[in-house]
Amino acid sequence: MSVQTLQFKAEVKQLLDLMIHSLYSHKEIFLRELLSNASDAIDKVRYESLTNTSIIEGDADWKIKIKADKSAGTLTISDNGIGMNEEDIVRSLGTIAHSGTKEFLQHLSSQQIKDHPELIGQFGVGFYSGFMVAEKIAVISRKAGEPKDKAVRWESKAEGTFEIESFERSSRGTDVILYLKEDEKHFLDEWEIRRIVKKYSDYIEHPICMDVEKDKKITEETLNSRKAIWLKDKSEITAEEYNEFYKHVSHDFTDPAKVIHFKAEGTSEFSALLFIPQKAPFDLFYKEYKIGPTLYVKRVQIMDHCEELLPVYLRFVKGVVESSDLPLNVSREILQSNRQIEVIKKNITKKVLDTLSEMKTAEYEKYVEFYNEFRKSLKEGLYVDQQRKDALRDLMLFESTRTERGKYTTLKNYVDGMKSGQEEIYYITGSSREELEKSPYLEAFKEKDYEVLFLLDEIDDFISHELEYQGKKVKSVTKGDIDIDKTRATQKKDAQKKYSKLIDLIKDVLKDDVKEVRFSSRLKDSACVLVADEGDMDQNMERILKAMGQSVPGGKRILELNPSHSLFESMNALFEKDKSHPTLKEYAGLLYDQALLLEGSKPKDPSNFAKLVAKLMVDNVKA
Ligand code: ADP
Repeated sequence: MSVQTLQFKAEVKQLLDLMIHSLYSHKEIFLRELLSNASDAIDKVRYESLTNTSIIEGDADWKIKIKADKSAGTLTISDNGIGMNEEDIVRSLGTIAHSGTKEFLQHLSSQQIKDHPELIGQFGVGFYSGFMVAEKIAVISRKAGEPKDKAVRWESKAEGTFEIESFERSSRGTDVILYLKEDEKHFLDEWEIRRIVKKYSDYIEHPICMDVEKDKKITEETLNSRKAIWLKDKSEITAEEYNEFYKHVSHDFTDPAKVIHFKAEGTSEFSALLFIPQKAPFDLFYKEYKIGPTLYVKRVQIMDHCEELLPVYLRFVKGVVESSDLPLNVSREILQSNRQIEVIKKNITKKVLDTLSEMKTAEYEKYVEFYNEFRKSLKEGLYVDQQRKDALRDLMLFESTRTERGKYTTLKNYVDGMKSGQEEIYYITGSSREELEKSPYLEAFKEKDYEVLFLLDEIDDFISHELEYQGKKVKSVTKGDIDIDKTRATQKKDAQKKYSKLIDLIKDVLKDDVKEVRFSSRLKDSACVLVADEGDMDQNMERILKAMGQSVPGGKRILELNPSHSLFESMNALFEKDKSHPTLKEYAGLLYDQALLLEGSKPKDPSNFAKLVAKLMVDNVKA
């Protein structure tokens, strides 16, 4: 194959442009990224060799080698990992596979990154970070199991294109050769390399070697201690080491919010080192998002995301689990029905939830930050995880009529603060607290000083029925009949009797729009309101389902009237005088329109509504 010149995909061009012009001050992380890729490549070939020994070709001396050539100005990172053929290299080093990085780039302009170079640190920069320090990068690679002359050479100056050509490589693996920029040549310095390897890549399991001169002799030295951090004792690990390891497994650049490190002994032996991040990645809820910790069996990496180890809703948890009970050649199918895996999953799920619970008690502010980032995941858990509903309920935080805006209460606090005589936990759903605060549905609750939870996330509509707590039922203030005050309940009954004929008339006028018209005890100031029947969908749920593109059965609602509002007295007087007075019909229509406005909908016929209001104004002035 002669030299071929190919274009980078648009998002790679954008990323490269950022890398080249970056003012990011931690350029040294490029080495960590390349060593991490080399280590992954070795893990892959080692894993494959468990079932296909022939691909080893006599070389199982797993090793990463760093070579600094001062005269050529090059830094080379070589590995004897899985390697890449032409197709692999075009795909891997010409596009961006990581959906989070892609998404991140779409959200940011080059100018934003130029103004805030530290943002670079927040997404998986990977291989391309080499261009922060190199003016040109060459990659020579031969895929495991392919012949010597089927190697490939890739080269680019990051100017929109890369070149590939056939090449020879005597053995399996990859060399990444960085032609360092003039002012980045300090990365060729032996002590600088030692420092960076120690700082970021010490725990890499495979030896990272370099030829060094000692007593005028060149010897190969291993720069990393290679200790699997998760197998070490907690007391031997510094916070910084935990943080660096977290960044390695998560591709996150922010320190984790919490580290969970433990060993289980007994029926099932395993070690787990898990992390709870501070910030939710952009792609957390994307289909391609990889869920689950890395699984090791007897120091061998089996898969980098083992989703069988955690429930899906704990998708944000990162880390490593190592088991000594599983067979090395464990397959996905085995994992799905393996008892050991079940035990580990149960164990670590509990640990994660316990850790969150401790955090909520001991470091409330920090927990709130976590909750603001990841509450959707926890709520998803409350919806799906039958076994852990109690624990998850206790992790929920809600705004309420008693909290300041942006501050939270818990279900426990709610129940502890219930007024005497209050039987149920009340909530209202919607998308804005400001609007809900003005809602007529809260009138009677405010009057009684009953707390009402504001459920503001879309998912809340699906979990509201899970919020029963300590035997107290939950109830929406916009649904069904509500009797929280004896006086108002009596008023309601009396009005229902006294104005029954008037109600029949209103019902008749609105028969196509509402399923029922009745007096209510939930109102204090407003004349009327629309409510959903107990088992029906309320207006907020309808809105959400419509936004999700679902067809919603147009269920009719109930128009509730305020018995203490003088309007009904007046309407009734008119009714007694002349049962077929045209104004009565107009008023019935206006009542319905008002109720629509109060819930944030439009009147049924806005121009007719405006006309009627104008007429009322004129009549009022005349009178
Ligand atoms: P990431 O490592 O996050 O996938 P990179 O941009 O660092 O992103 O690498 C892209 C891909 O290139 C890797 O997923 C891998 O398939 C391939 N790759 C990079 N370095 C090597 C290497 N040393 N050996 C084999 N494949 C590699």
